[in-house]
Amino acid sequence: MNFGVLDIQGDVSEHISMLKMAINKMHIDGKVLSIKTREDLDKISGIIIPGGESTTLYNISKRKGIYDRIIELVNDGKLNVMGTCAGAILISKNTNDPKVIGMGLMDFDVYRNAYGRQYNSFETYIDIEGMNEKYHAIFIRAPKISRVGNNIKVLGTYNNDPVIITDGKNMAITFHPELSGNTKIHEFFIDKLRV
Ligand code: GLN
Repeated sequence: MNFGVLDIQGDVSEHISMLKMAINKMHIDGKVLSIKTREDLDKISGIIIPGGESTTLYNISKRKGIYDRIIELVNDGKLNVMGTCAGAILISKNTNDPKVIGMGLMDFDVYRNAYGRQYNSFETYIDIEGMNEKYHAIFIRAPKISRVGNNIKVLGTYNNDPVIITDGKNMAITFHPELSGNTKIHEFFIDKLRV
């Protein structure tokens, strides 16, 4: 089973390292690929859309046909997706911002940069369902999840706002799990593909 990280912009190498570590820990036979083209998507079962700048990720992935192909593959049940920070904005249903159109892969809405500017970025420790230790969550110009649909499970919150959610296959996270040094969230994502 192979995994990919969308390689347009943002925290690509960090997610690749974390996925490799997670796969080793879980003794999974598979590769971690950098995804640069529409065709690359056919080689993988799970993709991470990293944090970065959602407007850039949107414009370039749309131009390369990657954006529409991800939607097709996820809707056909051939691909699971984990969106982190800018990636979460990209997979949402409604971004409340005409500069980034959400793929609508999970039923939730966001507001971009809702905690303020770069200066207002912060780190904290949060409880995540299924983990027995608090998770070091790093928020960098993070979006806020303003609505979740009925089929969405909230796995963790910060100040009562959902910050890590799943629909059972796909995941959206408003912080940066690739920067925590803790592979648990990556393992969690991989685990959803093993059933
Ligand atoms: N503020 C960025 C955006 O809206 C997201 C920030 C991030 O991914 N760290 O695209």
